Amino acid sequence: MPHLVSVVVPVYNEAACLDALHARLAAVLDRYPGMQREFIFVDDGSRDASFDTLVALGRRDPSVKALRFARNFGKESAMAAGLRAAVGDVVVLMDSDLQHPPEVIPEMIERWQQGAQMVIAVRRSRQTDPLARRLFTRGFYHFFQALSEVDIPEGAGDFRLFDRRVVDAINALPERNRFMKGITSWVGFRQEEIEFEVAERAGGVSSFNMLRLLRYAIDGLSSFSMVPLRVWSFIGVVLALLSGVYGLYLIGEALFLGVRTPGFPTIMVSMLFVSGVQLISLGVIGEYVGRIFTEVKRRPLYLVADEVGFAPPASLPATATHADGRHVPSLVPDGFAS
Ligand code: UDP
Ligand code: MG
Repeated sequence: MPHLVSVVVPVYNEAACLDALHARLAAVLDRYPGMQREFIFVDDGSRDASFDTLVALGRRDPSVKALRFARNFGKESAMAAGLRAAVGDVVVLMDSDLQHPPEVIPEMIERWQQGAQMVIAVRRSRQTDPLARRLFTRGFYHFFQALSEVDIPEGAGDFRLFDRRVVDAINALPERNRFMKGITSWVGFRQEEIEFEVAERAGGVSSFNMLRLLRYAIDGLSSFSMVPLRVWSFIGVVLALLSGVYGLYLIGEALFLGVRTPGFPTIMVSMLFVSGVQLISLGVIGEYVGRIFTEVKRRPLYLVADEVGFAPPASLPATATHADGRHVPSLVPDGFAS
């Protein structure tokens, strides 16, 4: 049995779900009397009462710890912060809206006991998603599978259990662009999949609209595939060959049939086509250059504005503690000191 299990939960405007989530998590983990636990909630700049709810939970349950980001940095950053803060020998990552049922955790722990280092909970169906989103995700998985250097199992979300070693490996990755689904596949280790039935949201609304999903998809692809960059040289070669053939045809035509037409349509079409291709390829290069830009700026992934439940660093004077038990953390999170 694990000695200490950490449950890491990104939270964005989920005040309606947190109490229920905590109750169900606690009920599940109560089945393991000998096991210690910590719940790490990362409030990703919520605009509702999420953080107050977490502070209240922390007063009732000492195993609740919460970080609050200085603004909304995105789910990937929230998960990264949670994984850095977690100290358990087993870490479970899950959504806060109860779409990931806590009751699946015992099966994950069982797999871990049998030797798995990462247990991926794969959703059995996508019934809870709107049709457009289901089509989009399907398309993305196929596209990603074809282009990228890592495989992500279809239906695998961020509901996972990690062994300590895996968490350490993920935490050691230096990149700012964190596409968790890709990263978790990239690190490897002994992975196993289990199935679960995804539930409806317990309350609130999904924060991933189509535009955000599209950005997420582009992020994921460009972090884990070079194909979009390379495909342009291939297209260039094909276009050059085709235009060579066409040129020969034109010469032949002029020699044997004489010049018939002024050729305006041909010029227009080929010009438009080629400049279109050039613009697309520039755009793709722009995506990667942008990514290089964000990486070289070396900005932190997130800034923490508040934390509750974590032991204050020994060096911190007592006056830096708020009346409600929060203490003022250092602005730069661990791991960015280099
Ligand atoms: N989330 C987050 N930051 C964001 C958006 C979402 O931490 O900017 C969290 C959210 O609180 C939830 C999880 O990510 O725990 C999944 O979000 P959501 O349920 O909105 O997405 P969906 O289930 O529709 O994919
Ligand atoms: Mg959800």
